[in-house]
Amino acid sequence: MLVDYHMHTYLCKHANGTPEQYVNHAKKMGLGEIGFSDHMPMPPVYDLENRMEEWQFPEYLKLVEKAREAAAGFPVRLGIEGDYVPEFTEYVREFTANYNLDYVLGSVHYIGSWGFDNPKYLDEFGRRSLEDAYKEYFHLVIQAAESRLFDIISHFDLVKKFGHKPRRGYSDLAREALTAIKDNDLAIEINTSGFRKPVKEAYPSLEVLKIAGALEVPVTLGSDSHVPEDVGRDFDRIIPWLREAGYTHIQQFIGRKRIPVAIF
Ligand code: ZN
Ligand code: ZN
Ligand code: FE
Ligand code: FE
Repeated sequence: MLVDYHMHTYLCKHANGTPEQYVNHAKKMGLGEIGFSDHMPMPPVYDLENRMEEWQFPEYLKLVEKAREAAAGFPVRLGIEGDYVPEFTEYVREFTANYNLDYVLGSVHYIGSWGFDNPKYLDEFGRRSLEDAYKEYFHLVIQAAESRLFDIISHFDLVKKFGHKPRRGYSDLAREALTAIKDNDLAIEINTSGFRKPVKEAYPSLEVLKIAGALEVPVTLGSDSHVPEDVGRDFDRIIPWLREAGYTHIQQFIGRKRIPVAIF
């Protein structure tokens, strides 16, 4: 069975379509189950232009509930995409404890005040050492894993989004972060949105997925859809990757508990 656990709603201000349309596309793609994971509300000083506000959260719950009703038995999970920001860990801990979520994705979208995955701040790559950017990014991922705020680390190597990669690669940093993820009992997602970005490959790359496989890091799948047509997109390209990295199972999440399900 295949799942898609990473999709957004219009509440984040940069996604389109109704949740019912996402469900319908998931069925068309032959998926077994999906989950919504819109950007979580945060204190209003943080990245307000890309997320719902706290007072809108009940509307999000209602949207997912409506999608579930329309899905008529097709499983629709309730997730959220949380951000790892060192100064807001308590906010995230309290917020996520208040709702019956099926899973919480953990994302690093900022290195300090630099929104490195935002095309608006692309220039900053030219002003910094790429080695340092990668080091700082993966250290935040390690802290995210150690914070125990999340169930799944999303877009594991997002810092490569625009195609910037250190000359010597980053497999040591990736291994260090994957080890922290494994030690703290988290999963990673294979996020296919990278195929639609300048880097033109999934997060993580096949090379990194093989390291994850060797470390037996549990995996789940996500398209990071911001439009219904992207649900399940490019999953056919990562099935052979999973096989090559030694995976026979992906993880289903219900009530923040992980259940392995056979892929094939
Ligand atoms: Zn988004
Ligand atoms: Zn993200
Ligand atoms: Fe997302
Ligand atoms: Fe995201």
